[in-house]
Amino acid sequence: MSDLFDLTGKTAIVTGASTGLGKGMTLGLAEAGADILLVDHVSSDETLKEVKALGRKAEQLIIDLTMKDAVQAVVSKALETFNKIDILINNAGIIRRTPAIEFSEKDWDDVMNLNSRVVFFLTQAAARDMMKRKYGKVINIASLLSFQGGIIVPSYSASKGAVMQITKALANEWAKFGINVNAIAPGYMATNNTKALREDPVRSKAILDRIPAERWGTPDDIKGAAVFLASRASDYITGHVLAVDGGWLAR
Ligand code: NAD
Repeated sequence: MSDLFDLTGKTAIVTGASTGLGKGMTLGLAEAGADILLVDHVSSDETLKEVKALGRKAEQLIIDLTMKDAVQAVVSKALETFNKIDILINNAGIIRRTPAIEFSEKDWDDVMNLNSRVVFFLTQAAARDMMKRKYGKVINIASLLSFQGGIIVPSYSASKGAVMQITKALANEWAKFGINVNAIAPGYMATNNTKALREDPVRSKAILDRIPAERWGTPDDIKGAAVFLASRASDYITGHVLAVDGGWLAR
């Protein structure tokens, strides 16, 4: 049974691996046996140390994914390091909170660029290797706001809606090449992304009152879904968005 989830010999790229959910998923893949390229615009030293302590091979690439040619640099580094890309987790993402009526073009473009444009083009670049080998597992990090409108985060909701549709579009095209493209929609998780919400007593209480599990999620809570979608256990699953939300969407 455990073979189903074994990632020994597999190589992965995880973006936004320095902290939060990216760090959690990186450690989950490493615990399951994968070697990993950690990508972030800040240092991932801490995550790197923990991955190596698990006995896995790991490298980091410090790069702003929104810069010109960044996606190609990520793929080149992964191929130089591991010779192949089996798993890609598109996790790096940002959020800007401002009422729609005052929302700036910069906040729109910055969020759309990292959260959806980079997701598409990094996946395209990695899939060129996956397609040659007829094997690949792409996991995009969507959101509850792929399904819901959210409050004062219009570009974030738009970008995460796009992540869900990119997931389905690529799944349709690439299933025949042995590439699975799925997404995880995390619920309200305690990371930097939600710091402002957790510090606002009114919003924080409203959110917590609505979560059936009666707690915020943690980076540990997302490990299982990431390992599942990266492993043989999910070979016939593609184009799916898996909510890891303590029951939020069921309410
Ligand atoms: P986080 O802010 O802790 O992590 C985001 C990571 O992305 C950081 O490591 C950051 O350094 C990296 N990053 C940001 N801009 C970058 C850039 N230009 N280039 C390279 N790396 C960059 O937040 P998180 O909650 O861990 O978010 C991870 C993903 O999960 C995001 O896509 C986020 O939208 C999504 N998500 C989070 C929640 C939540 O409740 N925390 C819910 C749904 C979805």
